[in-house]
Amino acid sequence: MLDCIIIGAGPAGMAAAIYMARQKLDFIVVSKTVGGQTLLSWEVGNYLGFQMLPGDELVKEFKKHMADYKIKIQEGEEVKSVNKTKTGFKVKTDKAEYEARTLLVSTGSKHRKLGIPGEDEFYGKGVTYCAACDAPLFGDKDVAVVGGGNSAMESALFASKYSKNIYILNINPELTGDDDLIARVKKDEKIEIIPNAKTTEITGDKFVTGLKYKQDDEVKGLAIQGVFIEIGLIPVSEFIDIVKKDKWNQIIVDKDNATDVEGIWAAGDVSDVTEKQIAVAVGEGAKASLKIIKYIDKLQ
Ligand SMILES: Cc1cc2nc3c(=O)[nH]c(=O)nc-3n(C[C@H](O)[C@H](O)[C@H](O)COP(=O)(O)OP(=O)(O)OC[C@H]3O[C@@H](n4cnc5c(N)ncnc54)[C@H](O)[C@@H]3O)c2cc1C
Repeated sequence: MLDCIIIGAGPAGMAAAIYMARQKLDFIVVSKTVGGQTLLSWEVGNYLGFQMLPGDELVKEFKKHMADYKIKIQEGEEVKSVNKTKTGFKVKTDKAEYEARTLLVSTGSKHRKLGIPGEDEFYGKGVTYCAACDAPLFGDKDVAVVGGGNSAMESALFASKYSKNIYILNINPELTGDDDLIARVKKDEKIEIIPNAKTTEITGDKFVTGLKYKQDDEVKGLAIQGVFIEIGLIPVSEFIDIVKKDKWNQIIVDKDNATDVEGIWAAGDVSDVTEKQIAVAVGEGAKASLKIIKYIDKLQ
């Protein structure tokens, strides 16, 4: 019986692990990847202490900190279910089963899919959800970015470094997000904004060759070789059904990151805390772990 299982090693889970290691809690960290979404950010400019660095470099710094405290992350392990027992919780992964008195859920969020024909078929063959990772692969090609918010605009600007023409297919009449990004996108001569465009199909043979969209009831086509899908994120909370969630499936927490089930805390993007940022996730993870440490202390 462990003191705690941290599920997810993004910024929230890793920050919590540092606090728990310092307080010598008996815990494990189980995670599919180490670093989470930070790995997808090509430029982090708003994390205190680091003026500007690629996300994967920031994750290297996080990992060094974890290594300093000899925290071992069970990487490549996916939690499939969580159940309550008499004395705590049973966590089943694709590889093993663990029991702990408390849990910290910090599984973050993942990309929302369009759910249109061709999306799955051409995933990795021109369809991507990560411009930061894949834009360099589309050098001198024409690409589409589906979306109309900050992520879509950032992706289009990043793609503009490499690709020939970039089309932003926005389902709404106007782009929404930071004024600065909107201004930069509008100024970029390689980027064309297509408003009121509902993407309906991605086409190709071995790789993507085009897409179809509906605008004012007319079906139109674009010849492109890459599609960046940037239509938002959904919390990764499907493996746990014993805690209360909101209508977006975010786990509802109080100001101390406690869920409605005693012994389970949640932090970072998977929770209903409004801002989804690395600094916020780190702070929430730290706060949750301090509460867990106090809770374990009281049990002893
Ligand atoms: C492209 C992009 C750029 C961004 N740029 C910035 C930026 O510049 N500045 C900024 O502050 N924020 C940025 N963000 C947001 C920021 O990355 C997130 O808010 C932050 O990573 C959330 O941290 P987290 O720990 O809650 O979750 P995540 O980072 O999502 O980490 C969750 C972890 O849980 C693991 N996991 C998920 N499900 C399971 C499971 N079932 N079992 C085990 N493990 C699981 C995942 O593998 C992952 O390691 C960006 C996000 C994206 C997508």
